[in-house]
Amino acid sequence: MTRVYNFSAGPATLPEEVLAKAAAEMLDYSGSGMSVMELSHRSGEFTEIIERAEATLRRLMRIPDDYSVLFLQGGASLQFAMVPMNLMSRTGKADYADTGNWSAKAIEEAGLFGEVHIAASSADRRHTYIPLGLDLSSDASYLHITSNNTLEGTRFAKLPDPGDLPLIADMSSEILSRDVDVERFGLIYAGAQKNIGPAGLTLVIIRTDLAGQQGPGTPAMLRYDVHCETKSRYNTPPCYSIYLAGLVFEWLERSGGVAAMQQVNEAKAQLLYDFLDNSSLFGNPVEHAHRSTMNVPFTTPSDELNEAFISQAAKAGLVSLRGHRLVGGMRASIYNAMPLAGVRALTEFMKAFERENNRGNARG
Ligand code: PMP
Repeated sequence: MTRVYNFSAGPATLPEEVLAKAAAEMLDYSGSGMSVMELSHRSGEFTEIIERAEATLRRLMRIPDDYSVLFLQGGASLQFAMVPMNLMSRTGKADYADTGNWSAKAIEEAGLFGEVHIAASSADRRHTYIPLGLDLSSDASYLHITSNNTLEGTRFAKLPDPGDLPLIADMSSEILSRDVDVERFGLIYAGAQKNIGPAGLTLVIIRTDLAGQQGPGTPAMLRYDVHCETKSRYNTPPCYSIYLAGLVFEWLERSGGVAAMQQVNEAKAQLLYDFLDNSSLFGNPVEHAHRSTMNVPFTTPSDELNEAFISQAAKAGLVSLRGHRLVGGMRASIYNAMPLAGVRALTEFMKAFERENNRGNARG
């Protein structure tokens, strides 16, 4: 068996020991004589799985009791709509920080349900930084941010403080990668396929008193209060993805928890950024203070070299390094499950590629 280093932005690499455990339990989960996929979502076994996943996550993120943890479907993209459907009706208006492609999508969806005020934007410099000042409205229902911008490779190193306004964060590409104080948020959401587990699961952490304010006509499946009351089992939840997420949470806890993971993530990012900053061939466009530790975009001076790099890297077992189609170039996503050894292998490969191509340039 050969496992590659997979730098995909999502679905992304998962911890090998989690996959091995899932494989070992595939045909007979805990003596039930069936796989987790075949268990009733109301069974005792599955109840234990979902409750254990939630309890482990609560410990990892120190989630206070007045917050609900929801295991939903529809991806982070459905949260772009569910957030305003459920939380905007109080004033009919919400503030958004415009920091890139995914926040633009969130803004577009929010516009369907009320008035959107852009409280900050980094559009003037192609989203290569995080705007620090906020122009908050006096009558907004909440402030929405994308805490880590997956395509642009930026993140809010320091989270904004909107005062009494609930802070809502799309943390899809950085949840569980650094220590955050959940109490500072009204709601956090994340698609699972980066730092949590397989696609098909969306995690929502909501201060429970914010649920139940949905606009009239909101369908049951799109109401936070319904999911809070039914503990994510209003209908059949994404059972297998929840099971795997639980295994990932337990792996994270065994690895020392979020603070320990944050240290490793910072070391990984530092290794890659240090190399990029000293490279004569590769570069990264993001302002240093606003660089993501999870998604690192980079380029060479030409499309030809970018293509050569991507294909030669793949042959060396370093895969999914192509940048997002809207951005081009390359991108290394180095989520929790990417070991330091993977980033080391990548930088070594980049060094060799640089040597080879600088020599080529000198000859030319
Ligand atoms: N927000 C962010 C920050 C993302 O990176 C992504 C997916 N890459 C999304 C939202 C959309 O997620 P989904 O595909 O789960 O809808």
